[in-house]
Amino acid sequence: MRDHLPGVAVSGMLRPRVQLSGFSSSSTGGATPGPLSVPEKHGMDIIRDPSLNKGMATTLKERQSLGIHGLLPPNFITQDDQVERCMRHLSAKPNDLEKYIYLCSLQDRNERLFFRLLKDHLEELMPIIYTPTVGLACQKYGLLFRRPRGLFITIHDKGHIYDILKNWPVKNVKAVCFTDGERILGLGDQGCQGMGIPVGKLALYTGCAAINPQYCLPVTLDVGTNNQALLDDPMYIGLRHKRVTGAAYDEFIEEFISACKARYGSSVLMHFEDFGNQNAFRLLSKYLNNTCCFNDDIQGTASVALAGILGSLRITQNKISDHTFVFLGAGEANLGIAELICLKMEKEGVPKAEAYKKIFMMDSRGLLVTSRTNLSEHKIPFAKDMPACTSLEEVVKTVKPSALIGAAAQPKTFTKEIIEEMSRNNERPIIFALSNPTSKSECSAEEAYKWSNNKAVFASGSPFPKYEQNGVVFEPGQGNNAYIFPAVALGVMCCGSVSIPDELFLQAAEALSHLVSEKDLEVGRVYPRLSDIQATSVKIAVSVIERAYELNLATVFPKPANLEQFVLDQLYDTEYPTFIPDTYEYDISSHQ
Ligand code: NAD
Repeated sequence: MRDHLPGVAVSGMLRPRVQLSGFSSSSTGGATPGPLSVPEKHGMDIIRDPSLNKGMATTLKERQSLGIHGLLPPNFITQDDQVERCMRHLSAKPNDLEKYIYLCSLQDRNERLFFRLLKDHLEELMPIIYTPTVGLACQKYGLLFRRPRGLFITIHDKGHIYDILKNWPVKNVKAVCFTDGERILGLGDQGCQGMGIPVGKLALYTGCAAINPQYCLPVTLDVGTNNQALLDDPMYIGLRHKRVTGAAYDEFIEEFISACKARYGSSVLMHFEDFGNQNAFRLLSKYLNNTCCFNDDIQGTASVALAGILGSLRITQNKISDHTFVFLGAGEANLGIAELICLKMEKEGVPKAEAYKKIFMMDSRGLLVTSRTNLSEHKIPFAKDMPACTSLEEVVKTVKPSALIGAAAQPKTFTKEIIEEMSRNNERPIIFALSNPTSKSECSAEEAYKWSNNKAVFASGSPFPKYEQNGVVFEPGQGNNAYIFPAVALGVMCCGSVSIPDELFLQAAEALSHLVSEKDLEVGRVYPRLSDIQATSVKIAVSVIERAYELNLATVFPKPANLEQFVLDQLYDTEYPTFIPDTYEYDISSHQ
């Protein structure tokens, strides 16, 4: 996915048109020894194009040859210096929202520099470009909106969606991340202002898995909003009516997905993001087998949580089918996790019906039991023939689980009594408090370790600091979806997989768990370090590709002999390309 030129059709998956490496640059005018790339643009049009602009790292030869000379200050600086300057600017910003705005404007100005900054400072910047700051940005999107990034398609565009896709300047799109804004993070219905989410998720495609940003299209499908505060807000930027539902909504989604396939090819990756509960499950079931699509809230979460559980098994020294799970919450996150656990147990030879029996789930109305008449179809397999119960403590005492997973956004629900009970019944209880943000966490890392007397194998949705007790140091892992969705997308895009069944998310979870080192496990971390994420993503992508070939889903033939090299060759490079080699003899009069 190296430098290909905007507006130039790229054949095959990700082939660059011009890419000659090895040109050296002299000390005069900065060092930009990247691959040679000949822009079709000139002068100010290069500076105004974020995919071409190098700012003051543009060399003297390039400035002279491409009509840039005089448009920039006379000094030259390297990309390393630019990164340093950006970090200084960022640290001078008074709050995270201002940092978010600064980073957006950098992305609009100089794409490579933005992604280089992200790559170098991912742990620090991820909470700015994604959750939690992006949530605030969505709430204020009406005020923040400056330059278009992504497409806004409304329910009133029905019948013309393909024409709107044609307005997007890049034809060679490989991945579309889209939301209808109904359930943005934990903030509920943000309508059209949910655009910050696909924009942020796709930035992580590049930041975490080096996917070329030119291949990524963020879309907001505006069908209205039921958020009365937004409808009443004169600054609101979306359609000013209630959500359209039912057949009209379904036809709209259908037309959108068909139009994307028609415009970008049938294997374009369609990433569902932050849809409301009802639509999320329904649409995933509808499109899972006939479209290259996934829902990160369901499948990505499932995969990252399962990876953490598989990492935990290296501490508990047993199989997943040896465990009994209690889940607090039975929404998109937990139902996805529970289903993927069942798939893993099946792989271990446990019949599906038996696997379901090992998983007990609670929602806001209590334990899922067969006597409840209001269970949705996805909850029914987990319903138990037991008396109704609304107390988690009671359920834990009765079921005696070895693993407790929380994703109900109900803070402090893993109480001292519950964690003590888990520790009495298990040598190493698995306790995952996945709810975000930190204020919604079921318990803190400190509480889990303290109340379990250091026995808990703990992971969380939000990061927790290092914790030390009785001379033992814990550095708990964060079950961040960013370990999974960019890597799966990379694998799927590289091999042209026609669909993304749960088997690929299971594969990704297994691959991620294998990347947890003994050193990580020693400090209780069941995930690899986030700082290594690009290397981690490549390894997961390779594993996903291998499985896609086994399942006959891949469409790139012949199958590459060296899959890791195949993936590495396609990664986006944040290094600036060289437009004009310094050794190039150029007749400057041609631009006079
Ligand atoms: P959701 O709205 O789909 O589901 C929430 C579930 O919690 C529902 O089943 C609801 O009935 C249940 N619930 C609410 N109150 C309850 C109570 N008092 N007792 C028991 N159950 C209760 O939301 P979701 O997408 O499943 O997300 C849930 C939480 O998980 C959020 O905080 C989210 O941030 C977090 N999450 C974490 C990760 C991660 O760690 N990687 C990924 C996705 C979601």
